[in-house]
Amino acid sequence: MPELVFFSGTMDCGKSTLALQIEHNRSARGLVGMIFTRDDRAGEGKLSSRLGLVTDAVEVEDGQDLYAYLVDHLSQGGRADYVIADEAQFLAPGQIDQLARVVDDLGLDVFAFGITTDFRSKLFPGSQRLVELADRIEVLQVEALCWCGARATHNARTIGGEMVVEGAQVVVGDVNQAAGEVGYEVLCRRHHRRRMTAASARAAALSPDVLPVPSA
Ligand SMILES: [Zn+2]
Repeated sequence: MPELVFFSGTMDCGKSTLALQIEHNRSARGLVGMIFTRDDRAGEGKLSSRLGLVTDAVEVEDGQDLYAYLVDHLSQGGRADYVIADEAQFLAPGQIDQLARVVDDLGLDVFAFGITTDFRSKLFPGSQRLVELADRIEVLQVEALCWCGARATHNARTIGGEMVVEGAQVVVGDVNQAAGEVGYEVLCRRHHRRRMTAASARAAALSPDVLPVPSA
């Protein structure tokens, strides 16, 4: 039976690496995948992982009907034996419904990869719809770690290293941001609740409270 599978996790948990691994394993067996992505760090029409692997993909646009796209592709003689949707948190809920229809009406496996919650620890709409519709949800086992060493379960947005909790749900940024720019960091829930990033923890450790009193 074909399935809609949601591989979920935080940033940096290896989602895109697993997506590329699934693509590799299936193409090695002669299968052809349709790969959708949106706002990948490597640029439009790319699916990339932090480990440096990259493959071509179809960049999903606002309002695009993914079911109709596949039907068109197949009716024009194209081939697709399965579907990968990376960065699925950025898809609209309706597009997730279209992916479920691809499973049910076209009989294809759909593997969706996405971050579950945003920097405010609220579900992304696309991820919410996946939780509602998926046949199976897999929480990725490659665990990202908080700076304290605990399992990182939450995504923080930072500006200049300080965690922020307000702003648009989607802002492009990366873990290696320049000072003062928007970045992201994975944290354990405790440090997400306390808004304590690696930078603010370091600053706290260096505060005058814990330094020896300088001699005058
Ligand atoms: Zn922590």
